[in-house]
Amino acid sequence: MNDIREFAANFKNIIKNAENIGIVGHMSPDGDAIGSALGLYDAVLQLNNNSYVLKIDEIPEYLNFLPGLDKFTEYSGEKYDVLITVDASSSDRIGDAVYALENCRQSIVIDHHISNEKFGDINHVVADASSTSEVVFDLIEELGLSISEDMASCIFVGILTDTNRFLYSNSSSNTLRAAAKLMDTGFDKDYILYNLYQTNTMGSFRLTQKVIENTEFCYDDKAAIAVIDNDMLNICGADKYDIEDKINLIRDIRSVELACLIKEVDDDIYKVSLRSKRFVDVSKICTEYGGGGHIHAGGFSFRGNLSELKTSLIKRFDEIDWSKI
Ligand code: 5GP
Ligand code: MN
Repeated sequence: MNDIREFAANFKNIIKNAENIGIVGHMSPDGDAIGSALGLYDAVLQLNNNSYVLKIDEIPEYLNFLPGLDKFTEYSGEKYDVLITVDASSSDRIGDAVYALENCRQSIVIDHHISNEKFGDINHVVADASSTSEVVFDLIEELGLSISEDMASCIFVGILTDTNRFLYSNSSSNTLRAAAKLMDTGFDKDYILYNLYQTNTMGSFRLTQKVIENTEFCYDDKAAIAVIDNDMLNICGADKYDIEDKINLIRDIRSVELACLIKEVDDDIYKVSLRSKRFVDVSKICTEYGGGGHIHAGGFSFRGNLSELKTSLIKRFDEIDWSKI
């Protein structure tokens, strides 16, 4: 169901009549998962007081400046009449809250991932939206609910981080209009930009140096593969949140169409991020590995050793017709 009017009317009806409501974003939350969850929470509260925004994973340090983080309720196995997931493309992305999903009377999925499995009773998946935060903004507007400065900050951060400051092709005129209307609430945009983009740690800087030293290029430099393992993090004094932006470093090289970043999570567990610029559908590749994402940004988890993973990826990348890129 993609018609915003129809969805909004249905949404309002369900929320107003719900006994209680839980809202949850994905594990390893990013700016969009947290921003859309907090923004939606304050909107839903205007319709139904008995609402909760659920914390299922740690908030990354770089987002600690967001207003309203204290509104999160630690999830510990509760059931809700209505459960809303945001920014989660499949039910395995919401960690322990899958119990709440399986045990609710009605579930609502709000997302923008093209690979979304539409696992809710009602699914509002807008694949051409920049972010779930943009989808949430459009919904709040359609419902005629009010947007406070704090709500606007959270939603703005979701849009900003998922578009990488309006750089990616997922930014549309609708995205910019949403951002403009959010800014009109009067929040301190410079404070947000400072916190997101001008507070990198020294550990992050040293990790950048390591990535530059270790990136491998193939297919005439059209693909780049970098690995970040836990030893590198320790040596650099970096943490897992310092990894996030490193894939942009290699994707932004002129010759590179496909960037691949392999992160060690644990012994024989790796998280792979893929990015492309114009030709390669990385969502398709990631879905084949049990993950998902968007055409130009995707990810998946892998169990096995690093050389197995690399061999498998190269085999898959060999299938791409590089002569056309
Ligand atoms: P990132 O590389 O930043 O972790 O993720 C890029 C995109 O791919 C995000 O939109 C994210 O939601 C999606 N993604 C990353 N990892 C997974 C995964 O394991 N499963 C699914 N379904 N999507 C993922
Ligand atoms: Mn998102």
